[in-house]
Amino acid sequence: MNVLVVGGAGYIGSHMVRQLDAAGHKVVVLDNLSTGFAEAVTAGQLVVGEMADRHLVERTLCEHRIDTVMHFAACALVGESVVDPAKYYQNNVQATLELLEATRETGVNRLVFSSTCATYGIPAKVPISEQTPQEPVNPYGFTKLVIERALEDYAAAYGLGYAALRYFNAAGASEDGRIGEDHDPESHLIPIVLQVALGQREQVTIFGDDWDTPDGTCVRDYIHVDDLGAAHLAAASRLEPGKGLKVNLGTGCGFSVKQIIETCRAVTGHAIPSVVGPRRPGDPPQLVADASLAKEILGWEPVHLDPESIISSAWKWHQANPQGYKIYQRAKVA
Ligand code: UDP
Repeated sequence: MNVLVVGGAGYIGSHMVRQLDAAGHKVVVLDNLSTGFAEAVTAGQLVVGEMADRHLVERTLCEHRIDTVMHFAACALVGESVVDPAKYYQNNVQATLELLEATRETGVNRLVFSSTCATYGIPAKVPISEQTPQEPVNPYGFTKLVIERALEDYAAAYGLGYAALRYFNAAGASEDGRIGEDHDPESHLIPIVLQVALGQREQVTIFGDDWDTPDGTCVRDYIHVDDLGAAHLAAASRLEPGKGLKVNLGTGCGFSVKQIIETCRAVTGHAIPSVVGPRRPGDPPQLVADASLAKEILGWEPVHLDPESIISSAWKWHQANPQGYKIYQRAKVA
């Protein structure tokens, strides 16, 4: 394949780029570097620009004879989406629609889209199958659902072949510790806990321990970022014109916030102080995938099933790059 990875300088996209390259595919990355890092792009060519820039995208698609687009570029923070929904509608909906138009205009009709379990909202029961009603409870989840619906309509009307991959909690880092997760500010549980282990934060705050869950803290399904990449490769090989695949990507196993902190203590050997704080608005108590459809139709199963192996890979990255990618940028300026 000749693949345009939109958002390929970001956390999940940059891991995808490496996998595509390792599998022998041609890779071009389009990223505006608003949250991504040029240093995270370890293969292919990086084009810095906006996915809403029709002229740039159409030229890039044609110039590189792109046949498949993988679209990772999105704002993805639930809390921020509530406070600043305009940013989410503009980036996740409006700019994505421009990207879709550029692909339509140039006849590129294969697309893999990063969707999310946030499209399900607060599910009545877990595990969550693809049949669970999609009733998002925040703008982030809703913007992703809007694009899922657009893709469905584009498939029916224009022959687009697409996959909407509904991620659960992406975590972990490349096995060699070369690329990993770096957000500023960081809001995700595992990197925050590991920053405590590194001495960069004093403690981690558990957002509520009075949820209706086995230990009172929220339960999530953590999926290794390289397992997500493998699922994208499998999905891309099964795209068919006019058809869509809508698939959950998770391990099917849930772990509580307390269990994750405990596992981080075991992996790092650090005490990692924690305190209990109030619930975070918008947090569903439990999000765990029914991942059976992915196995059935993609022939995909995650390799990293236990949180130890996911956290170990993240720990390797954080130890090797305690300042994330900033260190590379400082080196460049100097
Ligand atoms: N969480 C927490 N303390 C933190 C960050 C996160 O207790 O400092 C909890 C959060 O409430 C959720 C889980 O950890 O239940 C995973 O949160 P994260 O932000 O990593 O991912 P999300 O599930 O929101 O996509």
